[in-house]
Amino acid sequence: MVVGLDFSRHYEFFYSNVIPQQSYSTSKASILVVYVGRRDAGEVYYETFFFITDPAVNRQQKNPGLVHHCLEIVFDRVGVGHGVQYVHLFSDGEFKTKPHFTWLGQTAKKRKTGLTWNYYAPNHGKGLYDGEGGVLKNCARQYVLNKGTKDEQPISTLEELVAFGQEHLAKPPAKSGPCVRQRYFFHVKEKLKVPKEARQFTGSKSFFAYRADKKGKVHARLFSCYCDACVTREGDCPRPSSEWTDAKTGYL
Ligand SMILES: [Zn+2]
Repeated sequence: MVVGLDFSRHYEFFYSNVIPQQSYSTSKASILVVYVGRRDAGEVYYETFFFITDPAVNRQQKNPGLVHHCLEIVFDRVGVGHGVQYVHLFSDGEFKTKPHFTWLGQTAKKRKTGLTWNYYAPNHGKGLYDGEGGVLKNCARQYVLNKGTKDEQPISTLEELVAFGQEHLAKPPAKSGPCVRQRYFFHVKEKLKVPKEARQFTGSKSFFAYRADKKGKVHARLFSCYCDACVTREGDCPRPSSEWTDAKTGYL
């Protein structure tokens, strides 16, 4: 199973003459998009999870505490720890910080599932699901432009943004080939702790893959690889310098 994650740019609510809801100290929504790719009868399909939160509540856009909270929800939903053997996470380098590696080890052990976190080189990757991040924002904006009036905007709170997604975007039109089959929308109300040392650390820049085994031990490697051996963890990877380094001693 593959899981991609990405922070989308903030969605800005439109207000006209309406006073913004007092319960929110902001007029923006922070959106974490998590994509899950699976195979069904040989065919790859995706599900997208949108986690919408108030940037003033989970102020740090890259708060690893928020990311872990959302990933646990996704893992519960898709059954990681119940039949899923390996999960390959993908993200850009902004998620390459110590709390993520600590979480990777703890979660692999807790769920008895092998986890690998792969990082794209800057300005690479994303691929098929690249467009998903913009879907919610673009559709919501268009809806507001069409339906909004001088006195009333149909989407002006986080709840309304979540409800809009559930109502209008949950089930994309069926297509052949790899495509998004279902979208889920969550409002994250909790204020999540920012773990310590949420910075990149020396040495992490040269490593592009971190992997945790079912005992929770974390290893690092210079590149990400998706050959059969690396995906199933059976056999040897044919690429040169494909060995894993003990991340604990050198880089954590
Ligand atoms: Zn490989």
